Amino acid sequence: MPSFNHKPILVVGAGLSGAVVARELAEHAGVSSVVIDSRHHVAGNCHSLRAVDTGILEHVYGPHIFHTSNRETWEYVNRFGTFHPFVNRVKASTERGIFSLPINLHTINQFYGKHLNPTEAKVFLASVADTSITTPANFEEQALKMIGRDLYEAFFLGYTQKQWGCSPRELPASILSRLPVRFNYDDNYYADSFVGLPEAGYTRVIENILDHPLICVRVSTPWDSSMQRDFEHVFFSGSIDAFFDYEEGRLGYRTVYWDRKVTDGDYQGNAVINYPGMDVAYTRIHEHKHFAPWETHERTVVYTEFSKETTPADTPYYPKRLKADMTVLEKYRQRAAASSGVTFIGRLGSYRYLDMNVVIEEAQKVSRDFFGFTHPT
Ligand code: UDP
Repeated sequence: MPSFNHKPILVVGAGLSGAVVARELAEHAGVSSVVIDSRHHVAGNCHSLRAVDTGILEHVYGPHIFHTSNRETWEYVNRFGTFHPFVNRVKASTERGIFSLPINLHTINQFYGKHLNPTEAKVFLASVADTSITTPANFEEQALKMIGRDLYEAFFLGYTQKQWGCSPRELPASILSRLPVRFNYDDNYYADSFVGLPEAGYTRVIENILDHPLICVRVSTPWDSSMQRDFEHVFFSGSIDAFFDYEEGRLGYRTVYWDRKVTDGDYQGNAVINYPGMDVAYTRIHEHKHFAPWETHERTVVYTEFSKETTPADTPYYPKRLKADMTVLEKYRQRAAASSGVTFIGRLGSYRYLDMNVVIEEAQKVSRDFFGFTHPT
């Protein structure tokens, strides 16, 4: 463990990565930290709030569904809140009808008007897939190789253009690898062993992670580089380009925003419906009460999701990682490696598209590696 001059650690960002780092330091290294966040609340983009007009728990910055196949990570989050099992059964509304996602046997049979069994569907999809693509160089090639042009154009082309603001040919193949293709009727969006949502919302979970005598939380407190001298080390979960005052240029992010509407009853009968067509500007509609099926509400709140390029005034969400971004990122990575006293963590700090389970695992690892403690298994 590094030696300390009795100065605490500063953790910038009270989202999931910052909270886990602070907790690990407190619990396993006996190190105190101050966690700051420029927002007026903790939990970053997982922030949830029970709306006064409906009583429904809303995922204010977009729905987050926790999923992992790592039992330790599942047990970790369950220490800090009660999680209810949840199956996300996403639907896609297209001009040809409503289909089930991720693409599964039902989707294939419905889309092509067939009655294929799993073996026949595999043979059929192989016959429509583009076999000339051996190593997909981008999102589009990955899709054409996996499912062929018809399914790609129906479900991915428009959605991806709207979501990312560019051609799928410019995007990495890894984005599509997030979604499986199934040759059975399993329509669970996530293939992980543990999928759930916290009963009291993510904000309560993060508050509980941060609830330790060695952790001091200050919300509504923006980062300022002059703070660094008062701390032994900084774990920074803001954007890496912001830390360096954008001196090497800005990294590209997409941001998302929502049109919120409250009505009576059940708006769409499902938590998420995607709209892959270019006939509408939005990408999907979330109906928040369906993310808490253990609750009953007469009214309902729906968020229609739009995506746009991130301007300096917007919150960055999805790292685009286009070729030009990766060149800029490399410069920041070199500067980060040459900087002492700061470690970059989380989605914005590492400029990667990370799910919550990965954020937790990486935050545990970075704390453990830095302080040299053994994490209990
Ligand atoms: N995607 C798509 N159509 C869909 C759902 C997803 O084209 O109906 C693509 C899109 O490019 C998206 C990516 O697959 O960004 C990953 O989807 P995921 O549902 O994992 O996105 P998230 O929920 O993280 O925004």
